[in-house]
Amino acid sequence: MADPNLIDLQEIAPAEVGEIDLYQRREKIYTRKIEGFFQRIRLFSGWPLLLGYLLLPWLYWDGRQSILFNLPERKFDIFGLTFWPQDFPMLAFLLIIAAFALFTVTTFAGRIWCGYTCPQTVWTSIFMWLEQKTEGSRNQRVKLDQAPWSLEKIARKTAKHGSWLFVAFVTGFTFVGYFLPIRELFSSLLQLDLGGWPPYWILFFTLATYINAGWMREQVCKYMCPYARFQSVMFDHDTLIVSYDSGRGEPRGSRKREAIPAELGLGDCIDCELCVQVCPTGIDIRHGLQYECIGCALCVDACNSVMDKMHYPRGLIRYTSERELQGERTHWLRPRIIGYSIVLAVMVGVFSYSMITRVPLELTAIRDRNELYVTTDSGAIENIYTLQLANMDREMHEFTISISGLEGATLIGDTVHTLNGGEIRSISMRVREDPELLTQPSTAFTFDVEATDAPDLRISSESRFMKPL
Ligand code: SF4
Ligand code: SF4
Repeated sequence: MADPNLIDLQEIAPAEVGEIDLYQRREKIYTRKIEGFFQRIRLFSGWPLLLGYLLLPWLYWDGRQSILFNLPERKFDIFGLTFWPQDFPMLAFLLIIAAFALFTVTTFAGRIWCGYTCPQTVWTSIFMWLEQKTEGSRNQRVKLDQAPWSLEKIARKTAKHGSWLFVAFVTGFTFVGYFLPIRELFSSLLQLDLGGWPPYWILFFTLATYINAGWMREQVCKYMCPYARFQSVMFDHDTLIVSYDSGRGEPRGSRKREAIPAELGLGDCIDCELCVQVCPTGIDIRHGLQYECIGCALCVDACNSVMDKMHYPRGLIRYTSERELQGERTHWLRPRIIGYSIVLAVMVGVFSYSMITRVPLELTAIRDRNELYVTTDSGAIENIYTLQLANMDREMHEFTISISGLEGATLIGDTVHTLNGGEIRSISMRVREDPELLTQPSTAFTFDVEATDAPDLRISSESRFMKPL
């Protein structure tokens, strides 16, 4: 007999128990080509970035590759400036500024970076363009994929993947050219003499581009990009978003072009689904703001073209804000934007100032902590120091070391040093002083280093001189 205290699982179990696939199967997206105002903006923003990426490593600046992240020699050449590992805080600060600028722009204009300038978007657009050129329009591509293998299908697929691989190779090669001198790399490539690691990295970045822009596309934005995940916290009710005006569009439904929607009890959306067919992430913007939306505005251009044909006003899908959709006015200048802009301006100002006043020389004076001082036979006091001198210029210089702030003191040790560009040297120095001239047990003074051939190249480092109490 069944225990009345036990629950019969049969009674509460669902009628049908089945397997749940925890990973959603990817539906291939066949995007429809669309032209319009925002696509022209995308073209004008994407091309300069693409050309910049491809051409910059080929340009020379001040006799050197304009941008070269020379990892073996641990120096970065950027437009005539050379950065060493000691400059890392400055580069980190630059990255922080870039991230903060992105946050500010996102708060103001939503995912404008994703839709117009993100490399994933730009390269995916190129790959889609190649796909249209080799396999035809959306309908032709759907038919081609459903058709059995034939010579034409093989030829079209080969042309598509061949062109994708070519673009991916150029991308991968250029990327490696930011880390190795690209002209030498290219001449080694022509001579089929790419030894060592470069071929592996070129192959890696070629495949990464081919897979990301050719196969994964929107999956990168939806599942891999961290920015897509946390950008929603930067949104507020006034942020610019691509949105469907459901108040105007609903109830949706098909109708003849000359029909008057109000008489049919319909809104302006004719339910043509063109906005869905052009969407590179395959979403229906009419379902509201979704994290998959990269703000590319393809659906805006698509819907505007439909509205034009129907002789309805444009803007059923448009750039707007949640506040505007609720019938209020968007607040463009709001405290958050003003605050972000001020912080950004201050950070850019501090960075620019430190770049303009940057001296490519670094000096650190470290006092010997084992022996506070040494008393010589003549009664003088000596303190021992180790100077870390880094010549962060790319030229070799001769430097002289002196001290100031300790009257009558003498430096014992080699005071003239020649350092190559990028060289760091540890220099041991002793400072000798007459104790009668010291009024304090601890006196501040500075080590001064100056290049004999470039008087502007000088730096000081503070230290202290100790005498017996
Ligand atoms: S919904 Fe519109 S703006 Fe968003 S990704 Fe799709 S086409 Fe682009
Ligand atoms: S393109 Fe415009 S009219 Fe067509 S379904 Fe989308 S919102 Fe409706």
